[in-house]
Amino acid sequence: MSLLGPASRQSVTDARDQVGSVPFLAVLEGWCEAVVYERGLTPIRRELTAMIRLLTAHLPWICEQPWVADFAEEIRDLVRTSQRITMTEPRRELLKGVMCPSCSMASMVRYLPDDYAARCMNCDSIRLDEHDYRLLVESQARDAQHAVNP
Ligand SMILES: [Zn+2]
Repeated sequence: MSLLGPASRQSVTDARDQVGSVPFLAVLEGWCEAVVYERGLTPIRRELTAMIRLLTAHLPWICEQPWVADFAEEIRDLVRTSQRITMTEPRRELLKGVMCPSCSMASMVRYLPDDYAARCMNCDSIRLDEHDYRLLVESQARDAQHAVNP
C-alpha cells in the first residue's frame, strides 16, 4: 500500500501503483463499481478523492444493502492498515475491575481516541458511551458492596 503523506513523492492516482497486502485503491474501486452498477450511476474516475466522495454520498443506501457487513469489514481493514503504517493506532487501556454486561468477563477496554467510553473485547456489540459506562461501574460497585455487606 502506498503511503499518502508528506513523504509521498506523488499522489496515488490509480489502483495499479499499490504494493503490499491491502490493495487500498482496488478495494475502494470495487465498492464504487458495485454502487455505480447497482444504482445505475455514471462511472467515476479511479481517483481516491472521487471514490471516497461517492462512497460517502451513498453511505445511507450502502447501510441498507445485504453486503454492508463485508463493506464495513473491508473499510475497517483499510483504516487499521493506515493506522499501523502511520503509527496512529488508538491506544487501548484495560478497564480493570469492570465486567462486561453481556459476557461477564473482565474484558472491558477503552480506546484513546474513540467515540465510546468503553467496549468489550469479546462482544463486538457492547459499546458504551460515558453515561452508560458510568452507570455500569456504579451498578457493579453496588453489587460488590452488597456481596461484602449483605
Ligand atoms: Zn463481553
